[in-house]
Amino acid sequence: MAQDIDHIRPWRRVDRRRSRKIMVGDVQVGGDAPISVQTMTNTPTTDVAATVAQIEACTEAGADFVRVSCPDAASTSAFRDIVRSSPVPLVADIHFHYRRALEAADAGAACLRINPGNIGSKERVSEVIRAARDNGCSIRIGVNAGSLERHLLEKYAEPCPEAMIESGLSHIRILEDAGFTEYKISAKASDVFMAAAAYHGLAEATDAPIHLGITESGGLNTGTVKSAIGLGSLLWAGIGDTLRVSLSADPVEEVRVGFEILKSLNLRHRGVTIISCPSCARQGFDVIRTVGRLEERLSHIRTPLTLSIIGCVVNGPGEARMTDIGFTGGGAGSGMLYLSGLQTGKLANEDMIDRIVSLVEEKAREHEALQADAGRNAQKPTRPQVAA
Ligand code: SF4
Repeated sequence: MAQDIDHIRPWRRVDRRRSRKIMVGDVQVGGDAPISVQTMTNTPTTDVAATVAQIEACTEAGADFVRVSCPDAASTSAFRDIVRSSPVPLVADIHFHYRRALEAADAGAACLRINPGNIGSKERVSEVIRAARDNGCSIRIGVNAGSLERHLLEKYAEPCPEAMIESGLSHIRILEDAGFTEYKISAKASDVFMAAAAYHGLAEATDAPIHLGITESGGLNTGTVKSAIGLGSLLWAGIGDTLRVSLSADPVEEVRVGFEILKSLNLRHRGVTIISCPSCARQGFDVIRTVGRLEERLSHIRTPLTLSIIGCVVNGPGEARMTDIGFTGGGAGSGMLYLSGLQTGKLANEDMIDRIVSLVEEKAREHEALQADAGRNAQKPTRPQVAA
């Protein structure tokens, strides 16, 4: 039930733009690959233990790969150790210093975030491209409205989508002229309208995989809203192959918000999606506290499942019909439990959290066993056909 079926609900379909596929380590980006979620560490890169711990926490939350800043030689040296301990591929964030790019590529970066137009002479650009190619690194061209080239600001008077598109295409040209095609591109701005227009323009002009982001979007609440509007509208239009939500908050929150945006658009599923009402005087139990407790206790579930927790019968039965597990408040200290959309009986409010947690865990195990079976069957050698 967690998976939707296109032909039954065509109004939920998102037609993704066709892009080329590239690799970030062993993660596919673009084409028909799942839209990947990434974040960036904010520990000093030279503090290897703290940076690895943050990468692990982000991976646990669902990050497919993580970006690490490499501002100086000490950082690229530490980066080598971080790569060795990281459970996911790492992107090295480089600005201007071509030597950092060479060092990071050599240290095991899966991708370099660098703008080839900003690293100086043709020889230096060629060296970086050669290092990327020799080490199997892809490159992300990261256009940012806040750091556009001087000649573009003079031409357009101020940062604007046209300037961002022109900047992106000029960096693309440098890589393409060198025969390097393992790149993706981003066009970030803190202004949602500007970023969206730039992304639409780049999506038209190139088949490169697109990395989405609204830069400097603010704290957890404001940044989540802004990112959901900006990234959400682009993803809904089919644009975007990987994303980072930029928040002035713990990188783990960036990953969680990224996944929630994808889940809301039915583009990717992970863990339990809780459908819950805001609660009001009709609630048969404390909805807000219950949902908080369930979110905590179910955070270890990776299998996509839906759970409705609704305060009363106004909307409860309807939501429960569309979720894997449902609970609807009914008054007098108990509510109605639903499994796969069907009523299964009353459940006391005080037992509800424990019971729902064990039901979700049980269902997750069932789904995982089915998936494992499907995987084994897919790997079985087929019997040779005997000609009749
Ligand atoms: S579902 Fe019931 S409890 Fe929840 S907000 Fe609506 S009326 Fe109130």
